Amino acid sequence: MDAELLKHARDAIGFMPDDEGLALHQAGLDAATAGPLLEVGTYCGKSAIYLGAAARARNTVLYTVDHHRGSEENQAGWEHHDERLVDPRSGRIDTLPFFRHTIEDAGIEDVVIAVVGQSALVAAHWATPVGLLFIDGGHALDVAMADYESWSPRVAPGGALVFHDVFEDPADGGQAPYEVWKRAVTDGFEPVSTTGSLRVLRARR
Ligand code: SAH
Ligand code: MG
Repeated sequence: MDAELLKHARDAIGFMPDDEGLALHQAGLDAATAGPLLEVGTYCGKSAIYLGAAARARNTVLYTVDHHRGSEENQAGWEHHDERLVDPRSGRIDTLPFFRHTIEDAGIEDVVIAVVGQSALVAAHWATPVGLLFIDGGHALDVAMADYESWSPRVAPGGALVFHDVFEDPADGGQAPYEVWKRAVTDGFEPVSTTGSLRVLRARR
């Protein structure tokens, strides 16, 4: 990955260890021939740099979907709350300005396209097949399953489906992404690789 972009990715606020980010980047490079890249769960744009770098290298784009109000686990009092992201005007989380700064500083505004809205609602009106679908939105089972059910039909034949935060052992983390990953395998997505909690699958051709 481009050294300058990698530095920006490492410095960005967010939840993406470097080895998993690089595996995501590689999946983006491999899948881009099948269509543009799409991520659910922008947050402050950290994973969007790993994927945006792949989109740039392959002359395509990354769509990144988020309502920017944070998941349940990002709200005050929860494990992944970050006080800096609260908009003093409303008292609500607003990660959109942080995302904009991340993408501006990294210099990838020309390849990363923000879609601001509720994931399943955006999916319901989305028709373009995607080369890679990265699911890293809300981690409650109903939310994660809704993301999978609404977006997975948009993965192009031979394209990639990638999940983050998949933990087989409950001691390591929440089980919802693992449940959804198992569902995807049942549905015929073929497991390709695992890097930490990041799992790449391939859609049937
Ligand atoms: N990929 C990010 C982390 C994403 S955190 C990184 O690299 O750091 C999960 C994000 O999903 C949060 O920003 C939250 O606002 C978003 N989210 C949760 N549920 C959502 C939904 N139903 N629709 C849109 N975005 C959602
Ligand atoms: Mg994650």
